[in-house]
Amino acid sequence: MIRFENVSKIYKNEVGALRNLDLEVGRGEFVFLVGESGAGKSTMINLLLREMNPTSGRIFFDGQEITELSNRKIPYHKRDIGIVYQDFKLLNHKTVYENVAFGMEVVGASRKEIQRQVPGILSLVNLSRKSSRYPHELSGGEQQRVSIARALVNNPKLLIADEPTGNLDPTTSIELMEYFIHICNKGTTIVMSTHDHTIVDRYRFRVVRLSEGELVSDIRRRGERHEAI
Ligand code: ADP
Repeated sequence: MIRFENVSKIYKNEVGALRNLDLEVGRGEFVFLVGESGAGKSTMINLLLREMNPTSGRIFFDGQEITELSNRKIPYHKRDIGIVYQDFKLLNHKTVYENVAFGMEVVGASRKEIQRQVPGILSLVNLSRKSSRYPHELSGGEQQRVSIARALVNNPKLLIADEPTGNLDPTTSIELMEYFIHICNKGTTIVMSTHDHTIVDRYRFRVVRLSEGELVSDIRRRGERHEAI
């Protein structure tokens, strides 16, 4: 599903943000991406989104080499990926329904498609009854669920969650994880960057650790352990 082949990224100021990264993630896998601040997690996410290209190496997504995509094809690639952010990034002047619908409008969906899709997604994250509320009328956990709904509304193949529990209390974080697991069980691949040790310890998913731009460990926690050299 995702393959990084000997990928390096050096920014203009010559920081080796990623160094010789080799990584493969299968369809429907759940991966925690961990590492100190500056380790290269956001760089990896931005490369996956094709926000930029690596300095060297190749990246494949769903069989396609995304480092080779033409500018015209990049928007189609982005449709296959939903993102959930730590600070939710909701539009404050739009209701819950409109925020989720907006995720479809930006990729050119018709009104009919939107009307067909949004109610089901809101029901999945248990927000049907709050669809007319504005973000400031919701709890942090509810706001995060709106952002999950928006991320899922285009049926993405990959869900990227960038520190999604950073602004949530422990109980709400666990609730959020239950939604992710539900989504993952239906076949969506999930890559979740996190500093939340409690969550990483609680759920026995694969843990990929970056440090100073290098993959330092890759642990599949059902007995199998892969240490990078
Ligand atoms: P993380 O997400 O793990 O905190 P990043 O991928 O943001 O790590 O950063 C990796 C390294 O690349 C850091 O040293 C950071 O300062 C540097 N970096 C990140 N983005 C840029 C940029 N746009 N320009 C220059 N250096 C950057």
